[in-house]
Amino acid sequence: MLNEELRRTLTAMPKAELHIHIEGSLEPELIFELAQRNGVSLPYPSVEALRQAYAFSDLQSFLDIYYAGASVLLTEQDFYDMTAAYLQRAAADNVRHAELFFDPQTHTARGIAIETVINGIWRACQDSPVSASLILCFLRHLSEEEAIATLEDAIPYRDKFIGVGLDSSEVGHPPEKFARVFERARNLGLHLVAHAGEEGPPAYIESALDVLNVERIDHGVRCLEDPALVARLVREHMALTVCPLSNIKLRVFDVMGQHNLRRLLDAGLAVTVNSDDPAYFGGYVNDNYLAAFEALPLDASHARQLARNSFNAAFLEPEQKRAWLAEVDRFFSEIQ
Ligand SMILES: [Zn+2]
Repeated sequence: MLNEELRRTLTAMPKAELHIHIEGSLEPELIFELAQRNGVSLPYPSVEALRQAYAFSDLQSFLDIYYAGASVLLTEQDFYDMTAAYLQRAAADNVRHAELFFDPQTHTARGIAIETVINGIWRACQDSPVSASLILCFLRHLSEEEAIATLEDAIPYRDKFIGVGLDSSEVGHPPEKFARVFERARNLGLHLVAHAGEEGPPAYIESALDVLNVERIDHGVRCLEDPALVARLVREHMALTVCPLSNIKLRVFDVMGQHNLRRLLDAGLAVTVNSDDPAYFGGYVNDNYLAAFEALPLDASHARQLARNSFNAAFLEPEQKRAWLAEVDRFFSEIQ
């Protein structure tokens, strides 16, 4: 059992969240509200029925529901409301800074203009109680040509996002499939991240580094299968954005007691804790910390390390980063 003091520490400590898909923060209540506002009919009779449909068994069955949920987003205000709802929750979890993934292709494929998507999400970030920036993700089950077209469409809004990422179905869609679009993004001065080593093999982590030149690995939990890769990730201070509840829900690990978070930390990896798709996977960032610390041999020293890692791995100006790291240190020195 998690003792009350550690629970309070995890909940109250300042933190950054670096792996959250904004479309994955859509709660069933908001999906229903937006469906009603927009006259969209849903294949579920009630909020409860929709919530029950969240009993998916793997990445693909999750993605099927995820895309159905996103279908209620039509206007700039819808994107704004979705993002504002997440940022409120993040503030309540003592998140100081969040880097939000968004999937323009999920929306442009439905005839929504990329301008509507970016402006709605970005405007909510401007009004946010926490610092927030955006990372445009390409859907890896689609072609590289489609990714390139998406990036070109987004260039007029270049000042509204800080990087690009790669998400959706991993297996069968290795990073090297997107070599050219990542090179283009790099030339535009964008930060680069990619999902790798969640369901896919450690070799995908390696090609994300070597071919795409990413600065962070999203998930990356399967790196432990390759000791040479672990040594490299440690040497290069490569951050991993780990999402414990997501990993259990999508059966990367059967139960939280088997999660390798503690082993990743012991190996010296720059691990962070994040929520991935909080509405779908059973919780926001603090729920992820609490679930992992409840099931694994982790204490306040690990909490401090994870909080520090989250700011160190963020795409922030050095001065801002130092200020938040100092806040973490102050927080932990005060509770000792
Ligand atoms: Zn993800």
